[in-house]
Amino acid sequence: MADYPYPEPVVQVADVQELARDLVVIPNRRVQLVPNIGVIAGTHSVLVIETGMGPHNAEKVIKFAADYANGRKLYLTTTHFHPEHAFGAQVFAGQATYLVNKAQATDLEAKGPGYIDMFRGLGEPVARQLEGVELTTPEIVYDDSYDLDLGGRVVQLRATGRAHTKGDQVITVPDAGVMFTGDLVETGQFAIFPWFPPHDTDVSGIRWIAVMERLITESPRVVVPGHNDINGPQLLSDVRDYLQLLRDETWRRQDSAMSEDTIAAEVTDLMIKRHPDWDSREWIRPGVGCLCAEHTA
Ligand SMILES: [Zn+2]
Repeated sequence: MADYPYPEPVVQVADVQELARDLVVIPNRRVQLVPNIGVIAGTHSVLVIETGMGPHNAEKVIKFAADYANGRKLYLTTTHFHPEHAFGAQVFAGQATYLVNKAQATDLEAKGPGYIDMFRGLGEPVARQLEGVELTTPEIVYDDSYDLDLGGRVVQLRATGRAHTKGDQVITVPDAGVMFTGDLVETGQFAIFPWFPPHDTDVSGIRWIAVMERLITESPRVVVPGHNDINGPQLLSDVRDYLQLLRDETWRRQDSAMSEDTIAAEVTDLMIKRHPDWDSREWIRPGVGCLCAEHTA
């Protein structure tokens, strides 16, 4: 099994950040394969966003959420089907109503089992967190949008259409100006392209750029990315600008009949020069691969 070079992918309920009244985030503390987890409350209901990876992590999340809810009804949603975001939902069964967009439910059903295998292969610490994992079916599935009334506060759940995955979902809390983007946005790292041909080629750089353009027009006050530090709306344009540059530099070289290996090497150098402080440089190359495929398509 591969050596896993990062800290244990364990949710720590610590340094919980209050972004607005009755709206907190359990931050990922910049640990790989731990997502930022949101808990949003109204007068009669509480929504949890993301489960953490596997039942052990999700146990901590639901304990925190149940204490926070203090008797109020619990809902769970996830931004997309990837393991650290959604593969703890089994623990919420019977305690929270799980709702997602249809495209995400389809992703989970079609690709969930394969992702368990793929992630187990990443190394022992990941496999340990996935012990006992069972995929569960969401109870409420909506097509394009769903307004969830928590009591004195309505949260908007919106399917964005294919971008980081086929089933991405963005959750906004209009009264607080807060937007949860999932992996459409990360802080201080290169955009995650789950481009794994031939097994998974659903990510679309082109559609991702279009989604970012739409999210920018919504002008949130606070953006909670899938991973890493919470920040302002600048995060949205940072991702848009990176994806556009990646597209333009990839396509320009492709037009001059350069090989994909050479394109990837040159574009990787360029992107690192442009963002020397960003982590996860290994995601540049899959981004080039995805955009190459989209250019000829
Ligand atoms: Zn993801």
